[in-house]
Amino acid sequence: MKTLKDEILQRGAVLSDGVLKVDSFLNHAIDPNLMTKIGETFAERFQEEGVTKILTIESSGIAPALTTSLQLQSELVFARKRKSLTMRDDLYSAEVYSFTKQQASEISVSKEFLQPTDRVLIIDDFLANGQAALGLIDIIKQSGASIAGIGIVIEKTFQPGREILEQEGYKIESLARIASLSDGKVTFYTEKEQ
Ligand code: 5GP
Repeated sequence: MKTLKDEILQRGAVLSDGVLKVDSFLNHAIDPNLMTKIGETFAERFQEEGVTKILTIESSGIAPALTTSLQLQSELVFARKRKSLTMRDDLYSAEVYSFTKQQASEISVSKEFLQPTDRVLIIDDFLANGQAALGLIDIIKQSGASIAGIGIVIEKTFQPGREILEQEGYKIESLARIASLSDGKVTFYTEKEQ
């Protein structure tokens, strides 16, 4: 998605060989126009998949998941990283190892928000080692719902997330694919390498 790649080049900051900071439009401040385009693009790519529900993780997945749900006219639910006082005990939970925080945490979704009849599209901001997506897949499987696919805003192709998820047979659509963050610069994955 060209607009997204342009934003990454103009406003992204390479923090290390492994981490890209995009706080100015995705992870802290949010660019609503860009999120709208992201939602339109995900909707185009998954429109044939019969999506009834979108599942993401708080907090950075919520903005792109919301614009996608508006386009697909599907429901939206996000997994919580901390159980709120209002969440009762009937939860689906999974353990997720966080790439950026380098620690494991539990994510949860109330059982009332995922039904066996749902066809769920997973949306997340980044794909690195695939742990967040695997946690969401675990939760969807517990509910008996089916998985329509995985939509990722920014994928880092030099990390193994896609390979792990593709081995499990899931359809993955990433809007920007980064091949390298070496030498402080963003290099996108090009068609030639595919
Ligand atoms: P994974 O679970 O695939 O290893 O990592 C995905 C999660 O880690 C995303 O939900 C995102 O929050 C975070 N993440 C992974 N890599 C990056 C990165 O380079 N930059 C930022 N801002 N977040 C990242």
